[in-house]
Amino acid sequence: ATPTSIMVGTGRAAERGVLFRSGTALQALEDVRVVAFDKTGTLTEGRPRLTDLIPAPGFDPDAVLAAAAAIESRSEHPIARAIVAAATERGLALPPVSDFSAVPGHGVTGRAGDHRVAIGAARHLAGLDLAGLAPEAARLAALGRSPVFVALDGVPAALLAVSDPVKPGAAEAVRALQDQGLAVALVTGDDRRTAEGVARHLGIATVLAEVLPAGKRDAVRDLRAQHGPVAFVGDGINDAPALAEAETGLALGTGTDVAVESADVVLMAGDPATVAEALRLSRAVMRNIR
Ligand code: ADP
Ligand code: MG
Repeated sequence: ATPTSIMVGTGRAAERGVLFRSGTALQALEDVRVVAFDKTGTLTEGRPRLTDLIPAPGFDPDAVLAAAAAIESRSEHPIARAIVAAATERGLALPPVSDFSAVPGHGVTGRAGDHRVAIGAARHLAGLDLAGLAPEAARLAALGRSPVFVALDGVPAALLAVSDPVKPGAAEAVRALQDQGLAVALVTGDDRRTAEGVARHLGIATVLAEVLPAGKRDAVRDLRAQHGPVAFVGDGINDAPALAEAETGLALGTGTDVAVESADVVLMAGDPATVAEALRLSRAVMRNIR
């Protein structure tokens, strides 16, 4: 490989908003056989909105939302921001919070006013009987929305759902990669049915859902065993292990610093369509070199 053509290639890529952090990164991308995408913030906007608030019998929806929003005002999670925004839009006063704690990949817990509050995935409310809310959760997840449960004082109080719109061009981005003969996978911490709803919409057949942050690295290893060299595309702190493990880690320039630092390639515009563009460039340069 001549250093000159690699320099020309990385320069041309940079003009298109694709920053290869080394010549090796440009060479490695050509060999990739499977592209794995994070969901939230990568294929979706990462700015979910509250779409559903279904109280359990006997619970006042505004009171549950106010308690949930109070706790979530301590969390940076996109779901938390959606819940706080919904309470603000309704003009609800948020009770004072104490004893806040967050379990990454599960949910949050704390005391809001007179109530103990827990909010998160079903696994975060282990031990509670969620059977009354489960059918609605399944229905909302099938629509691609993310269901979260709220418990007050150890009793299931409501089901909330947030919807995070898919980025314009995400479906075309996936198809462009498939047209180049690559396998495409979705890897997410989100609910399995939600992930499958989004994947179906985007034409992605391989879905690894309910993956805890440490598990994203194992997901890359599994995909490598099945398909060969892996490209992982992500934006979050929880994607850093997978970005580092993959043969090629691609971080969105709109993502967190930790993700960008763990990556071999930075996609400045945060547009998933530039992944196919980066691959085309890598192949074109390597073809010229041989
Ligand atoms: P992702 O890979 O989609 O970014 P995370 O690992 O951050 O997902 O979270 C996985 C799941 O844990 C969420 O879909 C949600 O059910 C639950 N969860 C995590 N943090 C929170 C929170 N602050 N409020 C409510 N639910 C949460
Ligand atoms: Mg993300």
